[in-house]
Amino acid sequence: MYYLGIDLGGTNIKMGIVNEKGEILLKNQVYTNVESGSDNIISNIISLSKKLIKDGEDYNYIVKAVGMGVPGPVDENGVVINCINLNWSEIPIVQILKKELMLPIFVENDGNAAAACELEAGLLRGINTGIVLTLGTGIGGGIIIDGKSYTGFHKIGAEIGHMIVGENFYNCNCGRNGCLETFSSANALIKYVKELLSKGEKSSSLYSMCNGDFSKIHGAMIISAAKEGDKTANKAVERAAFYLARGIINLVAVLDPEKIVIGGGMSKAGEWYLDKIKKFTEEERYFQEFPIPEIVISNFKNNIGIVGAAMIAKLNYIEKAEED
Ligand SMILES: [Zn+2]
Repeated sequence: MYYLGIDLGGTNIKMGIVNEKGEILLKNQVYTNVESGSDNIISNIISLSKKLIKDGEDYNYIVKAVGMGVPGPVDENGVVINCINLNWSEIPIVQILKKELMLPIFVENDGNAAAACELEAGLLRGINTGIVLTLGTGIGGGIIIDGKSYTGFHKIGAEIGHMIVGENFYNCNCGRNGCLETFSSANALIKYVKELLSKGEKSSSLYSMCNGDFSKIHGAMIISAAKEGDKTANKAVERAAFYLARGIINLVAVLDPEKIVIGGGMSKAGEWYLDKIKKFTEEERYFQEFPIPEIVISNFKNNIGIVGAAMIAKLNYIEKAEED
């Protein structure tokens, strides 16, 4: 069976036709034009989905159901309550997509989608208690308890990106100050580097990478500058890793998970970044004799959203078929 997985992010709308094992067979993406408004974003999702479903037919990949992960809470009727990074509020996305695509549609928070990805096809298979953190434009989180995704009583839990880990120089768009995603997301990394540069710190690597136009700095640039040994870029990366470690230890204090999987765009920084996270996690732990969870990088890297959305479709589709 084949599923269409849609990853609606603050930077890109990515989608793919995925098989039951979580392998992406066809893929497409388009830039998320947040300024153009929700109607425009939705019509882009619809046209790209229709095209990919049709392309799949040429290979005999017949899509049975569609799953989508969104960067915000979704209620039980498939209404996106809000996505701050997209300026969305109260969007009945399931209803809209069902009418256009004429397939079963399942939409969940992107953190839950990432958890479904790792649980079904990734590094949390067979795990009792685990956590997935996706480091992208924001930070998404998924919590596995007793081998199942846990989202809380009102379905607004597992918002790990909005856990307070310190005091920051700018507010989070949720209205508070000090949220993890304002320290350790790709956006946070960029904001902090720009802050350092505006205060007079120098970075010859970044200067040459963006041809002297610092407004063009993006996350991958900062990572490669830091890997080259650029002091300013490295300072920013270390800061992101430090606060992420602090967040991880907070999660340990509450949940004591067996394994933590890190995915999303920033996980492409690889073992080099993971080593920093591990080092700070060791340092930040409470009671030095207590064990800490294994921390690993998702094999899906930034495809975690597409595969996760497809796994949401798979799980719900199978469950529905069993009910009927
Ligand atoms: Zn926040």
